[in-house]
Amino acid sequence: MSEIKVERLSKRFNETAALDAVSLDFAAGSFTALLGPSGCGKTTMLRLIAGFEAPSEGSVFFGKELMADPQRQVPPEARGVGVVFQSYALWPHMDVAANVAYPLKARHVERGAIAGRVGAVLDIVGLSRFEGRRIEELSGGQRQRVALARCLVADARIILFDEPLANLDMHLRASMVDAFRDIHRRTGATIVYVTHDQAEALALADRVAIMSQGKVLQAAPPQEVYRAPANATVAGFVGRGSIVAGTVIDHAEGIATVDVAGHRFAARSAGISSGPVNILLRPEALRISPEGMPATVLDSIYRGPVHEVRLALPAKGQELLIDNTEAVAVGQSVHVAVSDAWIIPDSEPS
Ligand code: ADP
Ligand code: MG
Repeated sequence: MSEIKVERLSKRFNETAALDAVSLDFAAGSFTALLGPSGCGKTTMLRLIAGFEAPSEGSVFFGKELMADPQRQVPPEARGVGVVFQSYALWPHMDVAANVAYPLKARHVERGAIAGRVGAVLDIVGLSRFEGRRIEELSGGQRQRVALARCLVADARIILFDEPLANLDMHLRASMVDAFRDIHRRTGATIVYVTHDQAEALALADRVAIMSQGKVLQAAPPQEVYRAPANATVAGFVGRGSIVAGTVIDHAEGIATVDVAGHRFAARSAGISSGPVNILLRPEALRISPEGMPATVLDSIYRGPVHEVRLALPAKGQELLIDNTEAVAVGQSVHVAVSDAWIIPDSEPS
């Protein structure tokens, strides 16, 4: 059953359509990442679900219950939603335990029960030893964990995160990704997680909704948005890779034979296609080989585990990206073999 359902949801700010007729279901216990560039409407979507903003058109349901349409809005405090923003909104002079206990005190939970619940959530976020610390004595990562704990203590069925890791450095972000996975497992809450970081979205979510200019371009499991993006915008936003022009020679049962630069290989396809198409090639599906597409090395960059090699195909402006175990000399002529490819639907061949 869907725990949250938005139907043709739109939000306009003066001339700007921040959200443009978006329909999306969020299954109970699911973890959805809203992924897209800055300004695409992610925060607006969260604020409409939380009730901080009223729809211009469309509706928000929790289960069968109407939460909002342009005429009627259930206030945020009556929706029972947990929200964690990028800025932590903690009380700096209060200690960790008092900050985390706040939602329970506000609800007049019995004093004796509060300490136990606070202890339990601080344990989940890995801050058990920090109960008595003042917020101003904590690092950014620790503060974000306190904000998380304060959200968890209220035991909400729906939790909304708005770029919660945006202010943290790379190493902290990685450890917090583990914390979020753990929280999802432990609480079984329905989570909507806003991020502009595709690695975070792929690692955390069981479904990724790619947004652009107020619309959802594709909502699918991470493997699907990566392996079978609905269009070139999604392909460009998720993962690395190259999009090249090719021609379909033959087609059977979802697999096409395509020709790129005189070399033929198999490409997965969503439907029957023929003639000129755009083909997505991920670096891990390409390798330098005695046979394949002829290409010239443009650049070879050391990335630690691999050398990222950029290659030019014979057709002007067409490039490939390959991960190679060794450096390759710039200017060298090579051939590239293809083990997997995807014909991008809904795109004008370039
Ligand atoms: P994101 O979170 O994806 O970066 P937002 O949802 O914050 O995007 O914003 C979407 C669009 O709506 C942007 O163009 C933004 O400038 C605009 N917008 C958001 N909130 C307001 C507001 N309160 N008043 C006017 N414009 C807004
Ligand atoms: Mg935002």
